[in-house]
Amino acid sequence: MNKHFDIIIIGSGMGGYLLAQSIRQQSAQKRIAIITKTDGRFYPKPMLSTALYHQKTPEMIMTATASEMAAKYDLEIITHTEVKAVDCAQKKLEIDGQIIRYDALVMATGSHANEIPGLRPVNGYISVNSMEDYEQLIDQLSQTKNLLIIGSGLVGVEFAHDLLHAGYKVSMVSQTPQALWGLVPSEIGGRCRDHLVGMGLDWFEDPGVKAVHEDHQRVAVSFSSRAAASYDLVLSAIGIKPNIALAQEIGLSTQRGIVADQYGRCSSKDVFAIGDCAQIYGLNLTYVAPIKQQAQAIAKTLTGEQTPIHYPAMPVVVKTPTYPLTLVPVREAEVIGNWQPQAYPDKTGIISAFYDKDQLKGFALAGTATKERNHWLSKMPPSIVSKS
Ligand SMILES: Cc1cc2nc3c(=O)[nH]c(=O)nc-3n(C[C@H](O)[C@H](O)[C@H](O)COP(=O)(O)OP(=O)(O)OC[C@H]3O[C@@H](n4cnc5c(N)ncnc54)[C@H](O)[C@@H]3O)c2cc1C
Repeated sequence: MNKHFDIIIIGSGMGGYLLAQSIRQQSAQKRIAIITKTDGRFYPKPMLSTALYHQKTPEMIMTATASEMAAKYDLEIITHTEVKAVDCAQKKLEIDGQIIRYDALVMATGSHANEIPGLRPVNGYISVNSMEDYEQLIDQLSQTKNLLIIGSGLVGVEFAHDLLHAGYKVSMVSQTPQALWGLVPSEIGGRCRDHLVGMGLDWFEDPGVKAVHEDHQRVAVSFSSRAAASYDLVLSAIGIKPNIALAQEIGLSTQRGIVADQYGRCSSKDVFAIGDCAQIYGLNLTYVAPIKQQAQAIAKTLTGEQTPIHYPAMPVVVKTPTYPLTLVPVREAEVIGNWQPQAYPDKTGIISAFYDKDQLKGFALAGTATKERNHWLSKMPPSIVSKS
């Protein structure tokens, strides 16, 4: 039997579900299907790196099962199913021998963790970019005393804070002298590193992990510039890459992400992209705030009111509650300018603003200065999209 939906969404992450919720706010009639590789449970992914601090188990983090989401938002959710092909010309795809047709297709395929080139993962070497990964981490933590985090970016820093706070012995290998390199000025990156060291972090620099081996139930790690060492667990946190393989397979235009216009439309008719996989206005923004903006606009466009996606300045909160940080990131490689420290009377806070000539492009607030967030947000231009 053939099936037909007004909208098929591939992926049940925050991109897929926030879009389905936004469409429902616009229309009770649209027939919506979500097809997902996972069991389709809905959860706020950002909670994963701060769950121990908030004493949340995976069950407590989950917002709803797939069937609860299906009932609440009147969705058909097809779980444990990977979409491997789509006929964009005929607007159909095939699942288990069944043809499913659509009027509009949305790619919400998300991202996957970066891998160290040439490194063969072993037991005890993991990365966390989903609830399934997190459950594996929690499972392994019960036999873990000391662990190594590879990478000092957002996710590495948040997990270091969470695990140190929970009493684990944590080492971190960083390719850069400060934490959060490229996201915050060196003064704040240095303070963040020092705060974690103050919590017990064993921080060291190394140009790159070369290999990992199983070593009597532990993981032996070979570094480039120091002696090998063994850990109970190694958590790789070296960034993410958009999932674009399916998009490439079905002929959509891709660069870093799936290329989409200001409405979220891809290069094939009636195909849209949202979330970590999407590249809109040339930007692949892998945060929740852009997903919310995308979901609202794409939902309106899909229900008949063509609406461009608006990108205001969207702050990112680094979830290190004992040393709070809030920033509006700047893509330093693409924006000309420099960080300028700002006067702040309280020594436990830091404010730095990134100016391109006299135009504010981003800012970073640390410690007590995070309460200045709204003031600095109000100084940002109304849109982060350059007009060129
Ligand atoms: C530990 C951690 C902490 C974070 N903290 C923050 C934070 O504090 N603030 C913030 O703004 N952002 C944060 N982020 C980022 C944020 O969580 C992501 O930007 C967001 O969750 C991405 O959602 P998504 O739906 O685009 O992608 P994903 O969550 O990757 O979902 C993609 C879905 O698509 C499915 N899929 C992929 N391909 C197929 C296919 N071919 N067929 C069927 N299904 C498919 C996958 O199985 C998955 O269900 C964090 C991320 C992590 C990992």
